[in-house]
Amino acid sequence: MEKYQRMSRLYAPTLKEDPSEAELASHRLLLRAGMIRKCASGVYSYLPLAWRSLRKIERIVREEMDATGAQEMLLPILTPGELWHESGRWDAYGPELMRIKDRHEREFCLGPTHEETVTDLVRNELRSYKQLPVTLYQIQTKFRDEMRPRFGLMRGREFIMKDGYSFNADQASLQETYDAMKAAYARICERCGLKALPVVADVGQIGGDSSVEFMALADAGEAGLVWCDCGFAADVEAARVTLRVPEGPEDDSSPKRVATPNIGTIEDVSAFFGIDPSATRKAMALVDGDGRPVVAVIPGDHDLNEVKAEHAFGAYHLMGDDELLAYGLVKGFIGPIGLPDGVRLVADVSLEASQSWLVGANDDGWHVVGAKPGRDFEIGEWLDLVTAREGDLCPVCGKPLHAARGIEVSQVFQLGTKYSEALGATFADENGVERPFLMGCYGIGVSRTLAAVVEQHNDEHGISWPVSVAPYEVEVIPLDVGDDLVWPVAKKIAEGLAQAGVEVVVDDRKERPGVKFNDADLMGFPYQVVVGKRGVKGGVCEVKDRAAGTRTEVPIDSVVEGMSATVSAARAEAVDETPSF
Ligand code: ATP
Ligand code: MG
Repeated sequence: MEKYQRMSRLYAPTLKEDPSEAELASHRLLLRAGMIRKCASGVYSYLPLAWRSLRKIERIVREEMDATGAQEMLLPILTPGELWHESGRWDAYGPELMRIKDRHEREFCLGPTHEETVTDLVRNELRSYKQLPVTLYQIQTKFRDEMRPRFGLMRGREFIMKDGYSFNADQASLQETYDAMKAAYARICERCGLKALPVVADVGQIGGDSSVEFMALADAGEAGLVWCDCGFAADVEAARVTLRVPEGPEDDSSPKRVATPNIGTIEDVSAFFGIDPSATRKAMALVDGDGRPVVAVIPGDHDLNEVKAEHAFGAYHLMGDDELLAYGLVKGFIGPIGLPDGVRLVADVSLEASQSWLVGANDDGWHVVGAKPGRDFEIGEWLDLVTAREGDLCPVCGKPLHAARGIEVSQVFQLGTKYSEALGATFADENGVERPFLMGCYGIGVSRTLAAVVEQHNDEHGISWPVSVAPYEVEVIPLDVGDDLVWPVAKKIAEGLAQAGVEVVVDDRKERPGVKFNDADLMGFPYQVVVGKRGVKGGVCEVKDRAAGTRTEVPIDSVVEGMSATVSAARAEAVDETPSF
């Protein structure tokens, strides 16, 4: 027979104070509610409450994956280095790959993602177009030696991911699988109670040609996105937006030098000329992946985007003071005119139509107004370089974009033949011709989803779980455990609920009501049933809806039936169907 969980036996060591290392609400609350504990930087233990929630998230993921026809399996975490050499990622992946050697000095890594492993699995056994398409998925611990592990479960070095891979015969079939996955991902977010938005994504490390990320909207999110009323939404790293770039101060026919002593920053320059920063031009000096110096000119009010810059320049870095000096560049006054020999000059594509640039003069204390590309200097290449921001124009409808922050909880990619070609994974088509599989890959950050749910569902008192992923659904709170009226009633309610299939905790501790209420709000189970002496005498208890904050008096006789019905209904209902702005 089922049992309710006694709070006195529950391993959930709560904290009274906010842990100092936690900046994000989710990190702080998961620690405070006794749900996670740090073992090492970016490595966490999931305590019983977190584990219950994680298993619910996994269940939702499994149901939605299985409904698409994807098949669950489990690949090894320990992956031979040879496979990564075959794909070229042993070198390309960089220091994020956790590498180890076995006793025979053979190279292995702990899988950060499994394209190589799964392609190797199928390459000799999935042979014919008749067997396609196939989609395999797993839910597993992943390892990435992140440069900055932080925010608790958000960016760990060990984390739980659902990763899926599809093998398709042609583009139409890949598109179909990809679309089905995208739809499943939207449902998963919804069922977990996340307000999330699908956004156009950068294709990043994995490569390929088409990708969408699901962003859980949160002010504290690490990712930036821009979106439009017309439905367009993109990661700022991927957004190819249209910029409004006003011309610099007029000058008729020739560039004019203007003395600007000590005026080197965009702020100072725009104040000095009395213009908006967008009418200035910012010149960024960097060294590209091949070690060559580059000056990239971008609109003064925008930032160089790291991801776009990596696409353009490879493993680049911005020049430090010594490098600027060595290349003959003057900090604060770099510009396109009169650059030292050998420095490659490029500019953001948004500036292509602009005719009057306010730029540094490559001379300490001087700027140039009215500089004109093509006449006064030659731009070697026009590139997409800047981070999209609020007010840039939508590439679809031309209206100004809104900006928001988000947590990337999941991502779908069309990989094409990148891995199947590298690993020689082919199938025989209708005509008996060997062709590489078209592949898709589909990842969900399961542990990050847990953190994102908490990030979206909390208040000053603690977590407020959506029923679908709550560790427990109801907490019964007897105000006085020692009272021989109160405790038997509380116990009976808990037993009744448990018997009806509701997941219940009873706070059986001999604590003051205030302590119990605080812990209940901190742990945030969706419903609290409060049983007190006065109520029992009058035949009633109080039901608190944690999210709504409402309290209702309910007859003790009908509370089990009422609560089971409420919980069942809430389980079935996904929170908010579409995100609203
Ligand atoms: P990010 O840009 O945040 O580093 P990513 O794009 O590298 O993530 P993917 O390779 O797309 O991540 O992995 C699939 C999913 O795994 C991500 O959408 C995210 O939810 C999750 N994930 C990735 N890295 C981490 C991490 N360090 N900790 C927790 N979850 C992660
Ligand atoms: Mg990603």
